[in-house]
Amino acid sequence: MATGATEPLNAEGKPIVCDDVAAETEWVVFRKSPIHGLGGFARKLIPAGTRVLEYVGEKIPKEESARRCEANNPYIFCLNDRYDLDGNVPWNPARFLNHSCNPNCESELDEEAERIWIVALRDIQPGEELTFNYGYDLTEYKDYPCNCGAPNCVGYIVAEAFFEHVRQQRALEGSVAEGQVDRAGSGPVGLEASPR
Ligand SMILES: [Zn+2]
Repeated sequence: MATGATEPLNAEGKPIVCDDVAAETEWVVFRKSPIHGLGGFARKLIPAGTRVLEYVGEKIPKEESARRCEANNPYIFCLNDRYDLDGNVPWNPARFLNHSCNPNCESELDEEAERIWIVALRDIQPGEELTFNYGYDLTEYKDYPCNCGAPNCVGYIVAEAFFEHVRQQRALEGSVAEGQVDRAGSGPVGLEASPR
């Protein structure tokens, strides 16, 4: 905590220079990402099902978690009925992994062990950026635009269960804005008419 609070630190506690390699693990190298800030990239072929990284952090009771969520901490995972895990700690490089609407990893909770893993959903080629869906709900989702670049990107960081809702919402708003409610042919700006 000696340096600036917002500055990401590398494994040696030094500020990260974005173009450099910021940190490395067995499977992942962390460096500047085209999606956002720092990202994690495959160092080698990662077979589907691999536990790529553990998502570590501070185990906190629900009441404390609620306080931190109120303060807009986006790194909190549910562990069980009583505890959450706050991944916003310097020793958790997994917090740099970016969200994607079409991710190649997912987070997996081992309830018994109270541990969270980032697991490869498919084979991942060397150099590919590792992403998972952050699983956000619709609370103020417009504050969290998505820049993942996936063809199916819904434009905001939300759980897959809400994709359809967000798409409909955007289509509706786009139509209203352009006064083209009954013109199916021309979709809203920036959105392809998607066959879902
Ligand atoms: Zn996206």
